[in-house]
Parts: sequence; C-alpha cells; structure tokens
Amino acid sequence: MKPATNLIHAGESVDTGATPSLTTPIYETSTFVFDSVADVIKYQEGKLNGYLYSRYENPTVVAVEQKVAAVDGAEAALLFSSGMAAISTALLTLLKPGDEILCSAAIYGGTFHIIEDLMARFGVDRRFVTLEQLADLAPVFGAKTKMVWFESPINPTLRCVDVRKVAAACRKAGVMSVIDNTFASALNQPVASMGIDLAMQSATKYLNGHSDVTGGALSGAKSVIAPLSKARRLLGGIMDPLPAFALGRGMKTMPLRVAQHNANALAVARHFEGHPALERVYYPGLESHPDHAIAKAQMSGFGGVVTIDVKDGKDGAFRVFDRLKVIKRAASLGGVESICSLPILTSQYGLTDEELVAAGVSKGMVRMSIGLEDASDLIADLEQALAP
Ligand code: PLP
Repeated sequence: MKPATNLIHAGESVDTGATPSLTTPIYETSTFVFDSVADVIKYQEGKLNGYLYSRYENPTVVAVEQKVAAVDGAEAALLFSSGMAAISTALLTLLKPGDEILCSAAIYGGTFHIIEDLMARFGVDRRFVTLEQLADLAPVFGAKTKMVWFESPINPTLRCVDVRKVAAACRKAGVMSVIDNTFASALNQPVASMGIDLAMQSATKYLNGHSDVTGGALSGAKSVIAPLSKARRLLGGIMDPLPAFALGRGMKTMPLRVAQHNANALAVARHFEGHPALERVYYPGLESHPDHAIAKAQMSGFGGVVTIDVKDGKDGAFRVFDRLKVIKRAASLGGVESICSLPILTSQYGLTDEELVAAGVSKGMVRMSIGLEDASDLIADLEQALAP
C-alpha cells in the first residue's frame, strides 16, 4: 500500500495479547469498527457486545462510570462533559410540561437558572422552597410535583438538609428525590443508602480532585439511569475519553484525599473559631454550626469547604482575599490546592442586600476550599492575612 494509506491504517488497533494493561486504556476514538453487516445487525439487536459511536458510549468512559457507581454505592452511573450537562440532561429527561419541580431556594446558581430560565420555557412549573419546607415536605407537595432537587451542605453557609427525611417524604408521595452531592461526595455522605433516587455531582470537584477536569455525574438505580443514558445520546453531553481517563486516575486516591480534606478543614475551622478578626466560622463539623446535629447524623466527614465571615464586612473580606499567599484566589472547590472565593463576587454576585440576607450570606464572607497542603501552612497563611 502507498504511504498515506499505510500511515492511516498501520498499527491502528493495538492488541496487548495475554498481558492486558494494568490501567484503563484511553480509547480516544469517535467510532468503532464492524467486521460485517451481520455484526452491525447483531449490535443493533443487542446480541453483539461492542460499541458503535463515542457519543453513545465509550469503553474508557464506561470503565470510569463503574468507578463512580462503586463509590456512590449505586447500581449505575453516567458521566457528562460538565456538572451542568448532567443537571440539564436530568431535568430535560425526567420532567415534562405541566410537571412541577420543588427546588431548594439555596442552590447552585447554574441549577437555579436552568430551572428558572430554561425549564420554564418548556412549561415546567417550579417552586423554590426554604430549608424549613424541605424539613417537612408532605404539606408542600402539590398534585403535579414530580421532583425535589436539593443540596447539602449548601454553598457558602454549609447549611445542611436532613437527607433521609427528604428521601422518605418523596418516596411516600411518589416524587423523585434528587440531591446535588458535590460538596460532600458519597464518601462523606452515602446518599444512595439514605433512599435518594438520583445523585448528581460536579465531577470537576472532589471526584476528580486535581482541578484539571470538567465533568459531571449522575448515579442511581438502573431503572432511573436507563432513560438518562438514552437521552444523553441525543443531548450529546457525554464526557470525552481523555478527561474520563484523568477522572478515573484521580478517583483512585479519592478516599485518601477526602479523609485529608476533612481533617485539614476541621483543623482550620477549629483554629479560627472565635478569632478576634472574625464574626464567625461556618463549618458543619463545628458544634456551633446550626445544622451540626443533622451533619453528624448523615456525614462521616464534614468536607473540605470552610467559610469565614470577616469583621469589617466587604472591606475586611477584600483585604484578607488579597493578602493570602498559599491559598489561591480561584473559583471552584475540591482540588488538592487550597483556593478561596468571595461569595458576593461569585455565587451571590449581583444580589441585593435583602436577597443576601435571605440567603444568609454576608459581605464579609470568604469561602475556602481547603486542600491537601500541611494544615499548619494554611493556618499560618490565614493568620497573616487576618492580622491587623
Ligand atoms: N453543583 C454545584 C454544587 C457546584 O458547585 C457546581 C459548580 O461549581 C455545579 C453543580 C456545576 O458543575 P460544573 O461546573 O462541573 O458544570
């Protein structure tokens, strides 16, 4: 054959013989090769074990989905190109015109806007409910309520919702319960065992843990995941093989990482509680947190996010933010690096004073995602940033 043909076809399919690779190979291919028309027919009839097209399924992605299902204690899991792709696929698949979704008013901004701005255009009714309403859902359900969507812990106050209570109320009423478990992860908060129907996570955060992948995950029973898998083929939000490989590698150290995030965050929170430069420290692992009892009952560790409320409001928070040296100024959370953000410039940007009060958010708040550095270095960094 001529050079161009050879370059394209020679050595394209790799066979490792009787010695398979130890780690998950990256199947960086958009499509898969069939031997014959008979095989294509068998595949379409579900009688041939194989793949057709990477927008549908890809072996690297499937391998990592099995890891997510294992960590989440779920029958099945799906990976997406972002947390938002997971959220939009779930909402568009599971709701139809005339259905009502009850969503926690304290929710990630992207989730709020997709429900309020986009789902509304498809005729889905929505009500945003308070934490008090989430604690007693039976009187809140309406005839058309099909889904409850909530988070725990909630950004940036780390308020917590009783997950078992929400799951039980939903089950009794025949309503689907969905939790965004991004902040806790299943290692700290195994929501499948608490009766939740569908767990969503931004894999960008603790699942991957290295701030180098954008991804999303949905996990649940096979019967819940099957229609979402079908819809993902059409909506096209599947994760690519390369980030899936990176995610799978990151997940192997997840138990070690999460344990250290928990320990470092607790050390930082305990050290700064009562600090003269602070109004308050928010961390569900502190006895002073309003939802400590709920957190203790449902979390084996309290996560890596700590929020401090600096005295002197916005000016104080801005000063601390600019002075930090080890803790980097960056949005997101869940990576090995400690980072911090100002809620009034990120998650609560543009809210009026009244809306901030309703959300329990103050202008002096600095939200920190505590990483895996030595806790003493993080404490020293914050101490110098808080000094008069
Ligand atoms: N849910 C929560 C709680 C988040 O914090 C985020 C992102 O910050 C998302 C969902 C969206 O995830 P992604 O940015 O991966 O699309």
